[in-house]
Amino acid sequence: MKYYIIFGPPGAGKGTQSVLLAEKYSLTHISTGELLRKEIESKSELGLKVKAIIENGRLVDDETILVLLNKVVSESLNGNKGYILDGYPRTIPQAEALDRILEAKGQKVSAVISLEIDEEVIFQRIALRAQMEERKDDMDRATIENRIVQYHKKTEPLISYYKESGRYFQVDGNKSIDDNFKDICDIIDKIK
Ligand code: AMP
Repeated sequence: MKYYIIFGPPGAGKGTQSVLLAEKYSLTHISTGELLRKEIESKSELGLKVKAIIENGRLVDDETILVLLNKVVSESLNGNKGYILDGYPRTIPQAEALDRILEAKGQKVSAVISLEIDEEVIFQRIALRAQMEERKDDMDRATIENRIVQYHKKTEPLISYYKESGRYFQVDGNKSIDDNFKDICDIIDKIK
C-alpha cells in the first residue's frame, strides 16, 4: 500500500495534482479540506463546529481531523493501491498521529511531494479558483493571508520532519499543471 502526501501552501495546486495522481496510480484521494467542506454543506454537528474556523483561515484542531480521517480511511479500502493525502498532515502532531496509524498497519509514508510556489503565484491561483469554485475562504484577502500565516507557522515545520526521514521530494509548483504533473510522476516512478 502506498501513502503519498502532497504538500504545499494554499493555492499550490495540491488538489488538482491529487486528482490526476489518483487517476493515474489508482490511489484514493483524501482531501481533509474537501471532507470538511462537505460536513459544512450538510450542516452536520462537525460542520457547524468548524465553519467559522475555516472561514477565518485558521486550522481545525488535530483531534477533530483525526476523527475525520479515521472514519474515511476505514471506509475506502476497496481495490485501491494506496492513498494520496491532500492537505493532511498540516501540523507536527498530525504527522506523528499519521505515523502511528501507519505503523500499526505495518506501513509508512511512501513519499512527501512538496509543491514549492512563489507567494505572488499563491494569490493569482486562489483568485482564479475563487472564480470557479465558491470557497468562502478564497474570497477574502485577509483570510487568504491568514491561511498563509498558518502554513508558515504550523505546517512548514513538517518539511524538516519529513526531510529527516529521507522521504521528502520537492518540485517547482510555479509551472503549468501538465509540467507539474510530469515532475511529480517522475518522482513517483523513480521511487516505486
Ligand atoms: P484545503 O482545502 O486543504 O485548503 O483546506 C481548507 C481549510 O480546511 C483549511 O484552511 C483549514 O481551515 C481546514 N483544514 C483542512 N485540512 C486540515 C488539516 N489537516 N488540519 C487542520 N485544518 C485543516
